[in-house]
Amino acid sequence: MQNSSDLLNMLRSVHRKSYPAYKSLRGVYRFEHYILSIDHVQGDPFASPSHISVRISLQSAGFPPAYHKDAVTTAALCDYLTRQFYQQVNRFTFRAKGSGKSGLISVSHCGQEVLRRTACEITDKEIISRFFIGFPANGRTINAPELEKILFEFLPVCVQKAFFYKNLNARSVEQAVFLAEDQAYIRRELEGRSLAAFVADGSVLPRESGVSSLPMKNSVPFASPESLRISMELPHKGKITGMGIPRGITLIVGGGYHGKSTLLNALELGVYNHISGDGREYVITDASALKLRSEDGRFIKDVDISLFINDLPNKKDTRCFSTEDASGSTSQAAGIVEGMEAGSRVFLLDEDTSATNFMVRDAFMQSIIAREKEPITPFLERARDLYEKAGISTILVAGSSGAFFHIADTVIQMDCYRPVDITQTAKELCRQYPLSLSGAPEFSMPRSHRIMTCRASASSRRRDGSRRDDRLKIKVHGKDSFLLDRQEVDLRYLEQLIDTEQTASLGLLLKYAAEHLADGKHTISEIVRYLDHELNTKGLSFLAEGSYISCGYAMPRIQEIYSCFNRYRR
Ligand code: ADP
Ligand code: MG
Repeated sequence: MQNSSDLLNMLRSVHRKSYPAYKSLRGVYRFEHYILSIDHVQGDPFASPSHISVRISLQSAGFPPAYHKDAVTTAALCDYLTRQFYQQVNRFTFRAKGSGKSGLISVSHCGQEVLRRTACEITDKEIISRFFIGFPANGRTINAPELEKILFEFLPVCVQKAFFYKNLNARSVEQAVFLAEDQAYIRRELEGRSLAAFVADGSVLPRESGVSSLPMKNSVPFASPESLRISMELPHKGKITGMGIPRGITLIVGGGYHGKSTLLNALELGVYNHISGDGREYVITDASALKLRSEDGRFIKDVDISLFINDLPNKKDTRCFSTEDASGSTSQAAGIVEGMEAGSRVFLLDEDTSATNFMVRDAFMQSIIAREKEPITPFLERARDLYEKAGISTILVAGSSGAFFHIADTVIQMDCYRPVDITQTAKELCRQYPLSLSGAPEFSMPRSHRIMTCRASASSRRRDGSRRDDRLKIKVHGKDSFLLDRQEVDLRYLEQLIDTEQTASLGLLLKYAAEHLADGKHTISEIVRYLDHELNTKGLSFLAEGSYISCGYAMPRIQEIYSCFNRYRR
């Protein structure tokens, strides 16, 4: 391996040459405390910046082994280190000057949730940090002394301050790791206690504003109703109390503006761990929980939605339903069936973002429109079956329709941001006003047999039959969508997709599937399960397209992988 002085010499030799001469720096160099790798050099100063990584041996980084002993602790430590490194590089970015992206130093910006990212990984030997540097130039002429500043002055400081235990605040590192272990403990307890979710007393659920995910200041702290309060003994924090939401059907009701959606949003994101200080650290939801909403215009292919929709006037077969342009109700029916396939054990719904005709049909409507004339079996009449026959719980926010009281196991009223357990009162009222259900057809597990095919992969075969695998192009447009070979995949309504880096990973996963797995023989389910297994065993570097993976990818859940593949207009 070459060392840092070799790099310095090479760097000096390309000064004032034209930009592509930077390419010669690609390689691996030993520095005093770490190994620097220049993985990819940008083509010009205006292109996306160069890919750099740094490897620090665990021995010299000096973290207590307990802090990276398993997946839970390692993810927390990596997240913590990325945040430290982010702060460090922010002090130095653009201190070196030049045209275009010259002088940029950047790493993933982590939000309130803890995600596994390619920005930092820990193996059994070392910490790997990945980030971007804009190699400096004046116009398109290399400015080597500026890069020398970055690589030989700034970076060593950043790495020292972010990745060496002795230079970090020991208490806050410990806090991050211990919090993750406590969160994992609660998640396991949910299972053992047959709960769908837990919301700790004292949690801060509302956010500062619609565009900020920081906790709202001076909000009403969460306090569980006595009847739903449970307590747990966390391994580090000790005793904690809060509201346990039992499995089954839970209804969240209350007047407008009383905090229903805020609670549901916290539950949606409770599938992820939150950082210390977020206010939702101890809001933990079954990790497979899926938010479902109506999504007019989405693409649906070969989904068995006959649980909810039958006998369409156009005689379309709803056991294998496809459309380029779904209605609110068909989109929601498909979402539920796809969610079952993705292994979700909890569905989260808000009446406000659901299609009304999918959710309920009131008695008056039932008496005027005969059952045979109504293709839709509303969710109201299926939720019980979903729980009893498929083991899927529902947590539903309802502000206007009272029908759901009749099927709920637990009813929580949000009253001025405070939850009140009104299950008993609701049950008594239900006896006084019985609900006539029109009689749903027998429940049977949907059986979708969706083959993954891909227009792009078919067209990427050359005339001689050989494949040009690497030709599919992805372009990520922020968190909400990406283009795969000019075809847009719209992910706007996946409310539990929270980070652009997850979207970037979904893009790579879909591309990988299109190039290697979409041979017309495998179902989406087989393909997604295979990808998820690879991700979990090999980590995000499984997504590497060449010899390395860059910064900029975060782990999506299997639910979002399914949702993404299902929305791809294959
Ligand atoms: P709903 O869905 O019941 O109509 P929301 O959940 O949208 O109500 O909440 C209404 C408003 O109240 C939001 O602006 C939200 O930020 C705020 N809010 C929610 N929970 C709290 C709380 N615990 N303390 C203070 N404000 C809150
Ligand atoms: Mg609301």
